[in-house]
Amino acid sequence: MLPDQLAAALSDLDRHALRRQRATLESAQGAQIVIDGQSYLSFASNDYLGLANHPEMVEAVRHAVGRWGIGSGASPLVTGHATVHEEAEVALAAFVGQPAALLFSSGYAANLAVIGSLLGREDAVFADRLNHASLHDACLLSRADFQRFRHNDPDHLEDLLRRSRARTRLIAVDAVYSMDGDQAPLAALLALAERYDAWLYLDDAHGFGVLGDGRGSLAGLPASERVVYMATLGKAAGVSGAFVAGSRLLIEWLINRARTYLFSTAHPPLLAAAVLASLVLIERESWRRDRLQAHVACLQSSLQDNGIKFSASRTPIQPLIIGDNELTLSMSKQLREKGLWVPAIRPPTVPKGGARLRVSLSAAHEEHDVNRLTEAIRALSAQA
Ligand SMILES: *Cc1c(COP(=O)(O)O)cnc(C)c1O
Repeated sequence: MLPDQLAAALSDLDRHALRRQRATLESAQGAQIVIDGQSYLSFASNDYLGLANHPEMVEAVRHAVGRWGIGSGASPLVTGHATVHEEAEVALAAFVGQPAALLFSSGYAANLAVIGSLLGREDAVFADRLNHASLHDACLLSRADFQRFRHNDPDHLEDLLRRSRARTRLIAVDAVYSMDGDQAPLAALLALAERYDAWLYLDDAHGFGVLGDGRGSLAGLPASERVVYMATLGKAAGVSGAFVAGSRLLIEWLINRARTYLFSTAHPPLLAAAVLASLVLIERESWRRDRLQAHVACLQSSLQDNGIKFSASRTPIQPLIIGDNELTLSMSKQLREKGLWVPAIRPPTVPKGGARLRVSLSAAHEEHDVNRLTEAIRALSAQA
């Protein structure tokens, strides 16, 4: 793409209702947000537990800034790794029941790191079609044979595994799908990983903090050294960054070989302190998960009565699939006029023809907030 082609390419996006615009927030994350001087009830954030602006986290960061300052100065291997990072890694590993963990500055970086350092040209990666873009990119960048299986279809995956002659095999999935809110069949996938001698890589960006008493999607799954677990810390944990958890050997290998770990400045220590504070809250304030579940149930039941179908998601991600880009945008705009911020998600974030309103619920919402949303959606669909 050359400079003089950009304007035409952008108009092309306009024509297909695919042009993206950023909303500029004038407030902190919360149930209420302010954009252009207007207050909105937000159903757009992944701050599922409402921790992003929690006073105890803010206080932990204030304290950490006094002790550690702001910047981490260097990559973790070149003086960027501090005792507070170490403490956070030990606590995260224990929390998800794995022997060891490693902090990354983002989930995107963690996905690139793990897949790239476990696989090479002679290997194969088996990925669910609806995996997050960062996993997709990680698979491409690894140079391994990249095979995609039908969404949540272990039989199709098994077909592909059975035929594979690759040196190392890795199955990569979102444990909770970011745009649909449904969950991967982890027990079946783990059984396949065992049977076909493969790694099972779980991206639990949307399960950590929310599912399994907050411990994420691994809870209830038998322990296995084939599992590599990744969760992000910018969603339910309310901070930023990510961690990978698994065997000590795996973590040692990543410290030596994970390029986005080696060649990137360490996660700032103040964020590691925030992660420690967040873990305490995730564990202690279980009412946040109870409230979230109540909101999910409320949304699902109140709209079903009206023939409006949200996908059968039991997580706080509740997509209302519309299909058409333009119609989705216009619905999002109409909701906005009623003071409700619900993002229109269009391709390439979702498959073509799969445009949707992605409602994301949070413990920061009150019951009457959810009711306000369902009433607005009902009114919209009565019009349509
Ligand atoms: C958000 C997300 C990521 C990326 O994590 P960041 O920390 O935001 O870079 C990776 N995987 C999934 C499934 C996600 O939803």
